[in-house]
Amino acid sequence: MQQLDYDSQLQPFKYTAGFFTEMSGQNVVATLMPKHPVKAHVILTAHYDHLGKQGHNLYAGANDNASGVSALLFIAAQFAGAPLPFQLSFVATDAEENGLHGAEFFVSQLQLDDSITVLNINLDMLAVSRPKKTLYAFIANAQRQALQHQLAAISSDTIKVKVTSSSNIMNRLNTGEKIDWRRASDHYAFAKAGFAYIYFGMGYDPHHHKSSDQLSNIDQQLYIEAVNYITQFIAQLDMTKF
Ligand SMILES: [Zn+2]
Repeated sequence: MQQLDYDSQLQPFKYTAGFFTEMSGQNVVATLMPKHPVKAHVILTAHYDHLGKQGHNLYAGANDNASGVSALLFIAAQFAGAPLPFQLSFVATDAEENGLHGAEFFVSQLQLDDSITVLNINLDMLAVSRPKKTLYAFIANAQRQALQHQLAAISSDTIKVKVTSSSNIMNRLNTGEKIDWRRASDHYAFAKAGFAYIYFGMGYDPHHHKSSDQLSNIDQQLYIEAVNYITQFIAQLDMTKF
């Protein structure tokens, strides 16, 4: 982020795990300030923590969430030195797996006046290998109108983008376990604070939180398509439609 000339810093925080255990973490926060004052702030998030080593097992977390962090870095490189009509921030969050602590802390530190519109774009588990080549864009009902046609306007030859506000629908299309997608990742910290969000992900992953979540189990071509789609979406994003 520093090499790309972003205004970047570490954001340390403390949180309690379980009942009493005091833990610490740190987010990485990078911002590209626009040349002129703007009324909108787009905040891209991807958690960089995972399960680490447990016993003899190493949990690599290729999909959860190296996929999101790599996408965040790629997108940061695309927009470096090219301010958009909104403030764009990149936040690699810590302690997501323990309960979204990094995102919660980041949101608690946000200082905004009421005239600023915030959109969180959260990237988590962007690379699942499955016959159905679908990227999900999970958004709250309230922002669906503002975002749906902007999402639909981005074309991709191979990937299908499914816009949804319903965990039930997403679970049904996924044929996996029942997951509460609204609360499943860092976007929930923004949702709770009343901010708009889009969560991009590929849904249920049979390798989730297993040591088999490795590079060999992700669909790299599909992943590239997904990241290109999200990059285009940000480049064309019209925050005045909110
Ligand atoms: Zn995750």
